[in-house]
Amino acid sequence: MHNGVYCGHPEAFTIPGKWEKTDLTWWLGDPYKPLKVMSRKYQFGLVKQALEKWGKVSSLTFKAAMRGRADLYVGFVGRDHDDGSPFDGPGGVLAHAYIPSDAYEHILEGDIHMDEEEQWEVWVDTLTVLIHEAGHALGIGHSADEASIMYPWYKGINHNLGADDIAAIQALYGGA
Ligand SMILES: [Zn+2]
Ligand SMILES: [Zn+2]
Repeated sequence: MHNGVYCGHPEAFTIPGKWEKTDLTWWLGDPYKPLKVMSRKYQFGLVKQALEKWGKVSSLTFKAAMRGRADLYVGFVGRDHDDGSPFDGPGGVLAHAYIPSDAYEHILEGDIHMDEEEQWEVWVDTLTVLIHEAGHALGIGHSADEASIMYPWYKGINHNLGADDIAAIQALYGGA
């Protein structure tokens, strides 16, 4: 069993933030390679599913942006990827994400970075981690509740939001 921690971003736990709108756009800019593990289309589907988990229980809607910079950006990137928070290679930190906040001057906010050196789909369930990181990109910090998708330690496949998660997203954006 892979025992990585989801996130490497201490700021993600403390800086509060939320989007000032509820209709958000997203884009998968850097798909995971090799594509024989997960096709580009399959990966787009995973990002969509992850966002819909949060959209289903809140007022948020998500639409793929066909060009330009979307609100939420997802990329599989490795080691030093120009945001000052290099990944650590296989194991350890799996991903990190930026909460919507003026602190990031609209450059990194809403970004979800997945460590491209993890064995996605093989050792780590991609959708589980995407749901967790999407929570951060929407403004939610970590939860101490093990039943929460926002619990900071990866414990295997979990595609369900916990009561904690639903309360957190509804506190920010209201119910569905
Ligand atoms: Zn996290
Ligand atoms: Zn990053």
